[in-house]
Amino acid sequence: MTIGIVGAGQLGQMLALAGYPLGFDFLFVDRSTDTPAGRLAPVLTGELNDPALLSRLAGQVEVVTFDWENVAVEALAASVPARRIAPPLRALAAAQDRLTEKRTFERLGIPTTRFAAVDSRAALARAVRRIGLPGMLKTRRLGYDGKGQQLVRSASELEAAWSRLGAVPLLYEELVAFDYEVSIIGVRGRDGAIAIYPLNRNYHHDGILRLTLAPWPAAPLARLAAQALRRTLEAFRYVGVLTIEFFVRRGKLLANEMAPRVHNSGHWTIEGAVTSQFENHLRAIAGLPLGATGARGHTAMINLIGALPSRQRWLTEAGLHWHDYGKAPSHGRKLGHCTLVDSNARRRTRRARALLRRLYPELPLPP
Ligand code: AMP
Repeated sequence: MTIGIVGAGQLGQMLALAGYPLGFDFLFVDRSTDTPAGRLAPVLTGELNDPALLSRLAGQVEVVTFDWENVAVEALAASVPARRIAPPLRALAAAQDRLTEKRTFERLGIPTTRFAAVDSRAALARAVRRIGLPGMLKTRRLGYDGKGQQLVRSASELEAAWSRLGAVPLLYEELVAFDYEVSIIGVRGRDGAIAIYPLNRNYHHDGILRLTLAPWPAAPLARLAAQALRRTLEAFRYVGVLTIEFFVRRGKLLANEMAPRVHNSGHWTIEGAVTSQFENHLRAIAGLPLGATGARGHTAMINLIGALPSRQRWLTEAGLHWHDYGKAPSHGRKLGHCTLVDSNARRRTRRARALLRRLYPELPLPP
């Protein structure tokens, strides 16, 4: 079976790496062959939203999935029969727009941040009166890793935030004084079976994920997060891996966003879980039985951003796994990650802290 993947980034690369042992072949679509997944499989090159290119892809594969969630839903719908696209386009459409995403959470009874749609300067003033300051102004579409968002601390900063972002539809939301951030990842198969991974605790800096510790031992939160995820998977009659990110404030969860794909906070599952998120995504979309999602130990996943540290030196750390995506270094760019699995949670955290101190001295580290 050949699997078509729209977007040939590192997520596509890790999907292919997980899929070859299962006997799958891969065909990607991206702007260039000089991409992480292009090191592993053929790439049809062109614009990701070009219906002719997507039709060519559909003609050569059994099922189409994506490693990039901003691919135009209309272009995909026009080029690939719906039953051969997974995850379903209705989930992709909901996740692409922060407004429909928030409304989806509300509809499903999943607590989320207070928000208001903003499409004019007057609407921004109204949103600020209703929700208060400080707040976050975000573009509804195409935001990721803290891009397309602006913190508004006081009324004096409103004008600057509006002139920076106001050309496109926006969302204003409360700034959550969260205690920490978590995410939950799960998978639903074509037969409706669901498997959910343990809870992840995530540490961001400048809007970019730096560290994930998993499993995060907060049983009540893990139960609530799994419930929210299950409800979302079922509502969309979802097929594949889905992620929801939450803020934790005073022991309560507030959904921040969902990603209809494998997720950076799930990279630890490659070495740290019985079946990786990548393998389970492929199993789901190919109609195979899902794999077990239990943890194999206590894992730390560290993102390598901007520049790679010395592989020579880092590999002296016992049990450390290195993932180099093969990308050119650039400020704020995710170039790779490494994963440490330990049988002891405290020792895992201590070791991760020592590695992180070398890499991100500015990151507030876990105790
Ligand atoms: P996002 O692109 O919405 O996932 O935002 C990236 C990161 O920015 C989040 O993981 C948080 O660390 C931070 N952030 C985003 N929205 C808010 C908010 N409303 N309140 C506090 N922090 C936020």
